[in-house]
Amino acid sequence: SVHVVLFTCDLRLHDHPPLAAARAGADEVVPLFVRDQRIGRSGFAVPNRSAFLADCLAGLDAGLRDRGGRLVVRSGDVVAEVCRVVTETGADEVHLAGSPSAYAQSRERRLREELTAQGCRLTVHQEVVHAVAPGAVTPASSDHFAVFTPYFRRWSGHPLRGVLRAPRQVAVPDGIGSESVPRRSAVKGTSPELARGGEKEARARLADWLRGGLDAYADRHDDLAGDATSRLSPHLHFGTLSPVECVQRARGHGGEGADAFVRQVAWRDFHHQVLAARPKASFYDYRTRHDHWRQDAAAEDVAAWKEGRTGYPIVDAAMRQLTQQGWMHNRGRLLAASFLAKTLYTDWRVGARHFLDLLVDGDVANNQLNWQWVAGTGTDTRPNRVLNPVAQARRYDPDGAYVRRWVPELADVEGPAVHRPWTLPDKRRSGLDYPEPIVDLSDALDHFRQARGLN
Ligand code: FAD
Repeated sequence: SVHVVLFTCDLRLHDHPPLAAARAGADEVVPLFVRDQRIGRSGFAVPNRSAFLADCLAGLDAGLRDRGGRLVVRSGDVVAEVCRVVTETGADEVHLAGSPSAYAQSRERRLREELTAQGCRLTVHQEVVHAVAPGAVTPASSDHFAVFTPYFRRWSGHPLRGVLRAPRQVAVPDGIGSESVPRRSAVKGTSPELARGGEKEARARLADWLRGGLDAYADRHDDLAGDATSRLSPHLHFGTLSPVECVQRARGHGGEGADAFVRQVAWRDFHHQVLAARPKASFYDYRTRHDHWRQDAAAEDVAAWKEGRTGYPIVDAAMRQLTQQGWMHNRGRLLAASFLAKTLYTDWRVGARHFLDLLVDGDVANNQLNWQWVAGTGTDTRPNRVLNPVAQARRYDPDGAYVRRWVPELADVEGPAVHRPWTLPDKRRSGLDYPEPIVDLSDALDHFRQARGLN
């Protein structure tokens, strides 16, 4: 018999329950990836993620070939393609990892309908994309947790499944047509310092992280210049790493750093369980604050924000890191997002879209719900706090090394003035080729407080 494994955001061979189930249930397996035309048309398939995805698919194909199989690649409507493969091979079961977005949920529904009509079973596996699946822990009175701390308590107590080994052999039926695996070099317009994808890369990074980074994580994760976070986010997003394995191995390592890291991985599951229960939160306010976002002159300010020339060095450094690497440090994301949504009082969707256009880890749940968290329309229990970019810079980039790295115009500015170049003598300032602040922070704070009815 034949089973199909439809890979989506779980592009790995290690710790992969759908593949393990397919191998246990059938003589032959079709490892299938469909280049989904709906995702292609949605604007979500941007260069940075397309290039990283190409690496992941090449890695998956290579891993399967090492085991006597190969990846089958098709393109078109995902449901039609799966049904076609089922017809061609006579498969009686399709395996898929559960995923929370509205799109993934509708894909699952459509697949179930069409496959059932064809007499084929669909099995959806949880805890492939998550350590703890959406809905696995819920409060007494709701279908999801809206506050992280009680969620984390329950999440921490939830037993994790064991980690599965990668299979030694994968037998793929002969004669199934496949397109060639997409190549990274065919994708144009990527960020110059974009990370490499693929399971090998992901596993090497995890091993390095456990050995060399994890212990210092609790103390250093907010240090912008120290760059002391795992950078595992794109690997978790594309599923070249299993979150169950990351948590199990970090717990096995132990210590404060491991605890702090596991807590961050739980944030990922937290946002996913919010989105699974409230799929519309990817676009609509999770909690409305009746905002009338600024429209006047906003386009110019938004352009300055995107290009990293707001005149606030720490914000500009973060935005330029995003352009250059397709990735941004979490502290940078927080303060750049607060600057757009609160200081410029601009609709969070505008910022979230820009992040999704560039982030290699860009993820509907984590991006949109973190943006809402920062904008105060999400799950933050202090929705009206505003991060002051100068105070944030002093705290998280005390030596100014992050700013000097990403804003070369300020590379020669010594001391704390690197975070407040407007305080330099006029002559020095005019020689810098760096913009004046586009907004006055205290006027902006007044405006925000008034808009939210806090004055
Ligand atoms: P580490 O600090 O090493 O953390 C380990 C892992 O935990 C990360 O890889 C990530 O999977 C998870 N994680 C950490 N912090 C968070 C968080 N706040 N929310 C959810 N998961 C978290 N993360 C994304 O994966 N995709 C996004 O599109 C995304 N957009 C964001 C937008 C904004 C405005 C903000 C404030 C945060 C966003 N994050 C997003 C969360 C976080 O910034 C990144 O996950 C993190 O910076 C990735 O770097 P790392 O892998 O080195 O993280």
